[in-house]
Amino acid sequence: MPAFQAPKGTRDLLPPTSTRARELVAVFAGLAEQAGFGQVVPPMFEDLGVFLRLGEATDVVTKEMYDFETKGGDRVALRPELTASIVRGFVEHRPTTPWKVWATGSCFRYERAQKGRYRQFDQVDVEVLGTADPEVDIEVIALGWRFYGALGLRQVSLELNTLGDPGDRPRYLDALRAHFGAHLDALSEQSRITLEKNPLRVLDSKRPEDAELVAAAPAIADFVSDDARSAFARVQAGLDALGVPFTVAPRLVRGLDYYTRTTFEFRGVGLGASQDAVGGGGRYDGLTEDLGGPPTPGIGFALGVDRTLLACDAEGVFGAPTGGVAAFVVDVVDGSHATVLCDQLRRAGIGADRAYDGRSMKAQMKKADGSGAAVALIVGDQEVGDGTVVVKDLRTGEQEAVTRDDVVAHVRKLVSES
Ligand code: AMP
Repeated sequence: MPAFQAPKGTRDLLPPTSTRARELVAVFAGLAEQAGFGQVVPPMFEDLGVFLRLGEATDVVTKEMYDFETKGGDRVALRPELTASIVRGFVEHRPTTPWKVWATGSCFRYERAQKGRYRQFDQVDVEVLGTADPEVDIEVIALGWRFYGALGLRQVSLELNTLGDPGDRPRYLDALRAHFGAHLDALSEQSRITLEKNPLRVLDSKRPEDAELVAAAPAIADFVSDDARSAFARVQAGLDALGVPFTVAPRLVRGLDYYTRTTFEFRGVGLGASQDAVGGGGRYDGLTEDLGGPPTPGIGFALGVDRTLLACDAEGVFGAPTGGVAAFVVDVVDGSHATVLCDQLRRAGIGADRAYDGRSMKAQMKKADGSGAAVALIVGDQEVGDGTVVVKDLRTGEQEAVTRDDVVAHVRKLVSES
């Protein structure tokens, strides 16, 4: 065992997994920018206060924050999510609305690490600030749905709920208090504590002993204002019109406190129950004000990159890229010809690699075969004398000596045929 390993809950992404993760983000970026979203790159740490606004009853705030005091005495935290940072940036810069942005990057939560649940994980995220139009809810949810589809995922489910408006909340919270309060003995100890702080969050309990009581809890749909109800109906009709399938989940509340109205979660059907949430989001019409800005409606989602890749594994889609370089240079003279030829090929836009350390012809050809390259370029003493290079098509085995001047054009032709 080496003296040091990646810290618990973190992983090294090595090739080709790292390439796959990057391509996933590229697919997301493509879809988001095609829909008019621009990228925002917030800092990875913020004043702790920014994240405390996520709510005192959330695990993210109470148990999972990577917070510390800097050498200058500031209390900061590594971001546990992107939304709060983005909204803080909105308040700071006051861009024109509607502000449609996307973001990606690592988030940090001191979680109990297991497969699919890490202490450092990546998210892709969109946020729209400055409009309460339910058409935006539809656009945002459909963007998430199309993203999973673009990866080839077919077994993602979408659950949808409305949390109503802040004014609807007190009556519903009272009903929850009454419901759970009448069965305190049957509730887990953790949920009894949560009940005191925020009864809504008890619905989020995944503890088996709470399952029956949660399922029997009053549904928020019976408590929401007419306005919120008709907005929710419009969102559902809009998703229907786009052919985005969903189920209404009357007890879906999600982990963070700031959500209002539309709330949703994407699940990877092929994943285990404890980490089947591949993404989720919703409206947060109060968060901007909480962070010191003007009243501004907002909606967004965050999708877990790591978990989405696990969902892809479970469905056997969006595999690791096979690619690699197009050409491999075998130099059995002294290695310097490989350096020059690789440089020429790369400058011409042709991916090229080579071997090092003066390996034998046989060893270098084996490397060439393993590299995935379509073409091998071979340079020995005779070729140096003739001013040529042997270009070998690795698929057909055919080979031909080509002058140094013609080699790039010749390789390009072979590569484009492959
Ligand atoms: P949340 O910000 O909690 O709504 O999370 C949004 C998405 O991020 C989830 O649906 C997961 O896919 C992913 N996610 C959240 N926490 C973790 C974690 N600890 N490890 C891996 N992915 C996570």
